[in-house]
Amino acid sequence: MAQDINKTARRTVFFVDDDELFLQGLKRSLHHMRQEWEMVFISDPHQALKLQKDRSETLIVSDWMMPTMDGLTLCRKVKEQISQNSLASAYLIVLTGKQNTRDAVEALESGIDDYIHKPFDMDVLVARIGVGFRTLEGERKLRLANEQLEILATTDPLTSLYNRRHGLEILEAEMSRVTRGKQQLSLIMVDLDHFKNINDTYGHKAGDIVLVNIAKRMKSTLRRYDVAIRWGGEEFVVVCPHTDSTEVISAAERLRKDFTSHPIQVDTLQEITVTVSIGTSSTDTSPGSDAGTLLSLADNALYQAKSEGRNCVRSG
Ligand code: GH3
Ligand code: MG
Ligand code: MG
Repeated sequence: MAQDINKTARRTVFFVDDDELFLQGLKRSLHHMRQEWEMVFISDPHQALKLQKDRSETLIVSDWMMPTMDGLTLCRKVKEQISQNSLASAYLIVLTGKQNTRDAVEALESGIDDYIHKPFDMDVLVARIGVGFRTLEGERKLRLANEQLEILATTDPLTSLYNRRHGLEILEAEMSRVTRGKQQLSLIMVDLDHFKNINDTYGHKAGDIVLVNIAKRMKSTLRRYDVAIRWGGEEFVVVCPHTDSTEVISAAERLRKDFTSHPIQVDTLQEITVTVSIGTSSTDTSPGSDAGTLLSLADNALYQAKSEGRNCVRSG
């Protein structure tokens, strides 16, 4: 992503025209007018289309009438390509010797962004390309802002795990796969033992450090398809797709042992060993259950683990 931004920061413009002489003329005029732009001159529209394929931002100035592919078709194909990628955008300018208004309307309605008559003033062309770059930049900022919003809406700021709302969405999506196919799914519900004591003894900040560390350990201990969620204060849920009741108990045991065998450094002097109680539930032992049922089974099992002495795993 960052690499793409650097690439587009160079402001590349592609000129496509079957008339090589015209391209050479453009090249001579534009190179000293806008040395900061990277300019690519291409006489084959098919090649131009290929070059846009993996770009996150595209600015093309294309001739309309060309023998192997006309400019409007090129523009339409570029737009089709970028529609596959929600992070890409394109700005397309068509140059043409056609003079009548109907043609201009046809060109603009076909989805291009701007339309310039030949012959044209070079300063005007440069200014219109400038508008194109500004538009792409605006779209890029909007995309980044949307990405940030998406992250804010789906993750817990302290631990960077998914938050409860997004976690529920993931669970519902995974559950619908269980209903359609033959795969099993399991849940792990983790609650830190006597966490209130940790806050009371070492302070709230130390408590936060413990939560961050627990989240990191979960991520590194779990399997690739498992999804860890910060369910509440010191409570976590792990959605384990393709996992049955036997497998989830060993995964939960692995987690529990991992926490007890790795003390957490809360400041330069203090190390705390945290234990957790865990409840699990699985679709194979509770066939036909929905997400809510599976969650309350795991919750009940967790409650049982708490009441039977903590630092243990129980299955629902
Ligand atoms: P149990 O073994 O029965 O689970 O006891 P507990 O003390 O862990 O459970 P309890 O529900 O009584 O207390 C949970 C504590 O977690 C209380 C709350 O202040 C703390 N907590 C919740 N969210 C955060 C947080 O984001 N940061 C910190 N530092 N503490 C939190
Ligand atoms: Mg607790
Ligand atoms: Mg709790």
